[in-house]
Amino acid sequence: MTPPSLPQIPEIWQETLHWQPNAEQQAQFQKLYQLILEGNQKLNLTRITEPQEFWEKHLWDSLRGIAFLWKKPTSDSYLQLQGNTADKVQYIDIGTGAGFPGLPVAISVPNSVVTLLDSTRKKITFLQKTVSVLELRNVKTLTGRAEETGQQPEHRQKYDVALIRAVGTAAVCAEYSLPLLKQGGLAIIYRGNWTENETAKLQGAVKQLGGVIESIEEFTTPLSHSIRHCLYLRKVANTPAQFPRGVGIPTQKPL
Ligand code: SAH
Repeated sequence: MTPPSLPQIPEIWQETLHWQPNAEQQAQFQKLYQLILEGNQKLNLTRITEPQEFWEKHLWDSLRGIAFLWKKPTSDSYLQLQGNTADKVQYIDIGTGAGFPGLPVAISVPNSVVTLLDSTRKKITFLQKTVSVLELRNVKTLTGRAEETGQQPEHRQKYDVALIRAVGTAAVCAEYSLPLLKQGGLAIIYRGNWTENETAKLQGAVKQLGGVIESIEEFTTPLSHSIRHCLYLRKVANTPAQFPRGVGIPTQKPL
């Protein structure tokens, strides 16, 4: 099966994210698209299968969350990664599903290490095959629940950036992600709609977990012009040992 070609619109990448894929990265995006369409026949990976929609909702949206990496510093406050830049930045994508946002991040930031975490073993098996076909050497995969992974010494406080899209409410995402971050690390929570009222409600949860809401970005997607948000939480203090709570508790009794 030959899948349709993804849009090749370098000028849109450039205008919106100040980045564009090189030929190898474009080929990897196309191959990823093909593998997901094939995988979808056996596994329920995604409802987004049209090339334009795949480009916008999976590729572009995933990378919009890290667009600050490619932005020139301005006088107003801007996001930065902290820590020792001699080491590769460690990313974890929590509840990655078919690999979003983690795989586009791994493809476009080769000088990174990206761990893809999901509780569904079949999805992780699919991702292992995908990573091998794409010859991505900077990706690790992990089957597990965020509530458990966040308590394991080999993962707790080990990551610079946590990415989390479409996994739960913002308070749940905060409880899954902040324990996994080093101090100074950044959690990036991808949302559709977001209101100031929700920001106010989230403050208490983030504070309990040792974080602060550093910024909230609202943006419009380039093809369908939909409104989306990214929340950026900075870890500024240790997360108390009781977080994340046991499997299912963050959803049942949100902070
Ligand atoms: N992030 C992807 C997939 C979202 S669907 C995207 O935006 O396209 C949510 C995924 O999170 C599912 O694959 C599910 O298996 C996983 N998931 C849900 N709860 C989880 C948990 N507590 N720990 C790890 N993975 C979880």
